[in-house]
This record gives sequence, structure tokens and C-alpha cells, in this order.
Amino acid sequence: MSYRLDNVRELTAHADADAVLITYMPDIRWATGFTGSNALLLVATSATHFLTDGRYRSQANEQVQHAAIHVPGYDLLGHVTGSGLIPDAARVAFQSDRLTVADRERLGASRPDVTWMPAVGFLETVRASKEDSEIAAIRRAQAVTEAVFDEVLPQIGPGVCERDLAAEIVYQHLRRGVDAMAFDPIVASGLRGALPHARASSKRLATGEFVVIDMGGVLDGYASDMTRTIAIGEPDAGMRRAYEAVLEAQARAIDAVRPGAKARDVDAVAREHLHGAGFGDYFSHSLGHGIGLEVHEAPRVSAHSEHVLQENTVVTIEPGVYLPERFGVRIEDLVVARADGPENLTRTPKTLLVL
Ligand code: ZN
Ligand code: ZN
Repeated sequence: MSYRLDNVRELTAHADADAVLITYMPDIRWATGFTGSNALLLVATSATHFLTDGRYRSQANEQVQHAAIHVPGYDLLGHVTGSGLIPDAARVAFQSDRLTVADRERLGASRPDVTWMPAVGFLETVRASKEDSEIAAIRRAQAVTEAVFDEVLPQIGPGVCERDLAAEIVYQHLRRGVDAMAFDPIVASGLRGALPHARASSKRLATGEFVVIDMGGVLDGYASDMTRTIAIGEPDAGMRRAYEAVLEAQARAIDAVRPGAKARDVDAVAREHLHGAGFGDYFSHSLGHGIGLEVHEAPRVSAHSEHVLQENTVVTIEPGVYLPERFGVRIEDLVVARADGPENLTRTPKTLLVL
């Protein structure tokens, strides 16, 4: 992983700083391979310091190379500022979007000699372009989620409780060895499907409804994320029209995923199609998000995004239509921006399933 620390050093030099203090755990994991829950990383031109607490002493020694490991107890921030790791009057970048106000004040109060330089999204861009091993990990996580989908499909039908289905989804992920769920599964049927982030409830699936199922797990640190919408019994014409519009919007947007594309232009492709199909007012969220060590990470694929897709960035493409008091439809796949065109990592079919 030493080349990733080299990336961090390059970015630090580029920010005209002598060192950077990394406080955000997914960034620390990316840079060092450390999988624990509490650490700080100080990367300077000449030295790298990794700090964690006593619970992780042996884990840090196993996982973290190319850094001096410090285990000072629980006050990691106090140790960074008080123990001579930061030279006098240094210029130190810090993650202003990943630090509490209280910790920011502590930095300034304990080291007034240091020029503290706020940095936003410090590792976002470098993390957004995935290495082959990272894409392979996402693919493995996604394969688990798809196997779970196949496993629970026969259990879906009228009378089944949303929460029971969600519990089964969690159980089947855990049985297949995930580290954790990437998020609480969404199982939202009928009217509840019109709430894009409805949690599973005690409602039972009923004939004539759509059920939106959105789920993902974390395997070897990397997340999966997939949404499928299934009809319980024959859907009416309006439901079919909405499903086809979302499916076509997704297909067009996936085609637009390539290195150099602006994320907001990809969002616009889906949004314009849904607008033309008469559903423009009912696609109430952004089209997608980057995925990797975090289930939601840069780049955002939204109308307001400033991001440009890089080669080997993995994003979700998840258009939806939410008709209040009626139903919701969302379809979500994982797509890699390859130089020779989009690669869809999701294998689960998307022709409308009627159960
Ligand atoms: Zn999702
Ligand atoms: Zn998603």
C-alpha cells in the first residue's frame, strides 16, 4: 500500500502543505489497509505516523506498513499535537469536512504555531478511480447480494411481511460471509414504495403492488448495492409504463458512463428520458453515487455534481419514479467507467418480474 501513501504525499505537496492529518476512517483504511475503527494518520514529507488505541495494537502491527505506529491510549489527537510529531511552525492540511468543530478548536489551541489548512474532499478524487483489486472486491460483494436475491425470490409473494423479507436478506448476506450490511435493506411495497428511503415495515405485500427492494453488503471492506422492483400479481398499465420508463432511463444513463463524462450530464440523460415519458416530477433524488470502501462516496451523480468521471470509477445508476399515494419504482446497477465503454457489474435481470 506504500504507493497509496505516496499518493497522499503528492496531494499534500500539491496543497502546499508540509503534512496532512487524515482523520476519516475510510480514508485511513484506503491509505494503510487498517480495518479497525479508531485511528489517525499523519503523513509528512519525510515520515508517516499511524496512531491507534490499545485494542488495535497487534492488528495495526499486522496491517499497517510503511508508517511508525503509535499506541498512546485513547486521546489520539492530543498525542498528534503534543508529542513532537508535527515540527514547529509546520503547514498542516486537515480534513475540514471530516473533523468536529471541537477537535478543530483543539488543534488550534494546542498548536497555535502550526498553520492549519482546511482541505475538503482531500482523497475523494484519488479514491474514486478504482484499482483492479478494488473492482474485483466490489464484484465479489455484488455477487453475494445477487445470490441473496436469488435465494429470497421464492419467498416473495402476497401476505409476506416487509420486515420478515428484510430480516431474511440480512441473514442470507451474513451466512455468505459479509463483514456487515452496507445499509439496512429497503423493502417498500405498495404506497410505501413511493417513499424513496422507506425502511421495511410490518406491512404485508399485497396483490397488485410493486415492491422495491434495495440491498447491499460489505465484503472485504467493499460495498455492493442493488435495487430491483418486483410486481406482486399483475401490475396495471400505469405501473408497467412507469417501470418501462425507469428501465429505459437507466439503460440510457448506463450508456453515458465513461471516463471524461460529467456526472451531471449522466444524471441529465436519465432525467430527460423520464421527463419525456411524463414522469419528470417524480424522480426526486439524484441518479447515483460512487461506491467502494463506502456505499456512498464520491462522485455524486446528480444534477449539481461538479465531478467528472474518471477511468475505473464505479458508480450506481439508480433512476426511480415515485408516485405519491400510488407506488414507487427504482432499478439500480453498479457500473464501471471503462475506457472502452461502460461495464455493468450487476448480473441480476431487469425484465419485470411478476410473482
Ligand atoms: Zn441502493
Ligand atoms: Zn445506491
